[in-house]
Amino acid sequence: MNVLPHNRPTFGTEEEQAVVRVIRSGWVAQGVEVENLEDEFCGFLGLPYKHAVALSSGTAALFMALWALGARGKKVAFPVYACAALRNALSLIGSDEILIDTAPGSPNISINALRQVSTDIAIIPHMFGIPISTSGLDSIAVIEDCAQAIGAMVDGVQVGLQGRAGIYSFYATKLITSGGQGGMFVSKNKDLVDAVRDYREFDQRRDDKKRFNFQMTDLQAAVGREQLKKLPEFLNKRSEIFGKYKEAGLKLLDIDDSSDNNLMPVRYRAVLLTDKPQKTIASLEMAGVKSIVPIEDWELLGEPVLFPSAFSLTKKTVSLPIYPSLSEENIKTVISAIERL
Ligand SMILES: *Cc1c(COP(=O)(O)O)cnc(C)c1O
Repeated sequence: MNVLPHNRPTFGTEEEQAVVRVIRSGWVAQGVEVENLEDEFCGFLGLPYKHAVALSSGTAALFMALWALGARGKKVAFPVYACAALRNALSLIGSDEILIDTAPGSPNISINALRQVSTDIAIIPHMFGIPISTSGLDSIAVIEDCAQAIGAMVDGVQVGLQGRAGIYSFYATKLITSGGQGGMFVSKNKDLVDAVRDYREFDQRRDDKKRFNFQMTDLQAAVGREQLKKLPEFLNKRSEIFGKYKEAGLKLLDIDDSSDNNLMPVRYRAVLLTDKPQKTIASLEMAGVKSIVPIEDWELLGEPVLFPSAFSLTKKTVSLPIYPSLSEENIKTVISAIERL
């Protein structure tokens, strides 16, 4: 039996043709395709042109955001329920880490807990596409981690534009991909953007500033551009599937209803809340469907016992397939496997 994967990228002839176009052009390194992707990304977010910098990964973008904000030796707060990339970028920078729990029942950072610590910078991921407002954190430099939430909005504002900087990932399993790896840094602040762009252009520089090669290639950018064009359609399809799961009565993690803010999610993940995650995963496997615990207790970025809300979430969540190429039949298979429990 063919197993339905938990996640897969959605490509068409457009991406194939874009790759061929770039290969035939004779220029595959960072060039005009990267510049166009940056402009189109600004267009998508409603930012002025030149306010986005394409990079080799979301982690590279996070590193750049921290670097641009002068995070070395400063205090940086971030949630334990996130992605190893946060830790990795921070350790490369050399910041003092302040670990924060999630809000009870939420995959996102507890803003209350964050308000109780003294920190210079905070990394705030919008986990699973569920956006969170960063208002009221004015004394902290906020980096929004939008790796899982391109297109989500808070009070009509795109995520990534609430704080000082926003970062995005175009890894193979994210909402869109630039051919397997890729990332983007954005900021409303032109000085920050210019500093990041300068850092990326490492070659043939006569000053002795330290820089690093975090460049995206034109081959990647060309794929990313086609994916960005399809993003609205991808998001609609995901939202439709999420709706079908809900209609069938599945209990899914969703936005915080008690929020004062108008939260518009994107459906990066359909995360089932269940007392029996392992049984659910096994039942889905019997039906030929791959599902996973989205973040396991050992993946938390801090000692599990110290962060009860995050720890508890790792014990009652199963992530279901929710990508644009799922068929009607696939969706029914997922639902009936869960109903059989
Ligand atoms: C994927 C991800 C990253 C890292 O992005 P890469 O492109 O894989 O380096 C950072 N934060 C979150 C929340 C992610 O999901």
